[in-house]
Amino acid sequence: SAKLRNDGAVIYDAALDKGSAQSLSLLTELRHAIERDEFRLFVQPKIALKTGQVVGMEALVRWQHPQRGNVFPDAFIPFAEQTGFIRVLTRWVMERSARLCQELEQAGYHLKMSVNLSTRDLMDQDLPVKFGDMLQRHGQSPQSFCLEITESAIMDDPVRAQNTLALLSAMGFELSIDDFGTGYSSLAYLKSLPVNELKIDKSFVLNMETDLGDARIVQSTISLARAMHLRVVAEGIETETVWRLLEGMKCDQGQGYFMSRPIPAAQLEDWLAQWQS
Ligand code: C2E
Ligand code: CA
Ligand code: CA
Ligand code: CA
Repeated sequence: SAKLRNDGAVIYDAALDKGSAQSLSLLTELRHAIERDEFRLFVQPKIALKTGQVVGMEALVRWQHPQRGNVFPDAFIPFAEQTGFIRVLTRWVMERSARLCQELEQAGYHLKMSVNLSTRDLMDQDLPVKFGDMLQRHGQSPQSFCLEITESAIMDDPVRAQNTLALLSAMGFELSIDDFGTGYSSLAYLKSLPVNELKIDKSFVLNMETDLGDARIVQSTISLARAMHLRVVAEGIETETVWRLLEGMKCDQGQGYFMSRPIPAAQLEDWLAQWQS
């Protein structure tokens, strides 16, 4: 594992990296990772809670590091956001997601693909055009993609975020508010943004079986979403009991380890075939 200093340099864990005398900067490593094709597209299925049908999937990136192995996004996404590298990574994720959708379509599956965006992406004026080009190259339309944005990404620069989101929405992309309820935010943006979906953060879902406070927050969020005619999705479903609780609360869709952990994109077709049988 690597520790980040404020200047972004990486201090290698001595045990893991005895051989390396020099410490590379993490940014250099991330750039190399793109060139050397070390990022991996993982996906986690999204399920309609009432029917059990697969309705979509979320793209989640992993870094297959030659020495450190499978690096999880929490270890490099925040740094990628700080340095602006996230813009390169987001494009990579969208490109691979579009390719996967094209392959799934050829196999007869029509699923909605959700892709995570960061603040920096919302400040990127070229992003809508770039996304449009990528989808066109893979014969995909924005209608089959949903972009997940956190509340804090919107609140960082509400005016610019709103402009980009309006543009993406006009192109046909669906928009989702991720980690709903965890940000410092105003509910007013729900009224002014072209949002289609709310995602209840897993921190409220994981223990809702036993924590009455969490269960109440989940129930209120579902009610709010329904009142605003928004689709509502719960993440972090780890047990069948929580699935049934959420179904009873009229939550539309869910994701979680109970149904599937995030899996490599190449394994999705097999997973889908098994889920259906
Ligand atoms: P997120 O967008 O909120 O993604 C949901 C996270 O919850 C994922 O972690 C997922 O593996 C995890 N999760 C799903 N179901 C369960 C469950 O039942 N139990 C538990 N305990 N966890 C569950 P992951 O893949 O490690 O990603 C962490 C975060 O990194 C994501 O949170 C997202 O903010 C960021 N991230 C991942 N991929 C990308 C990407 O391509 N672009 C951007 N901008 N951010 C990404
Ligand atoms: Ca997400
Ligand atoms: Ca989330
Ligand atoms: Ca999150």
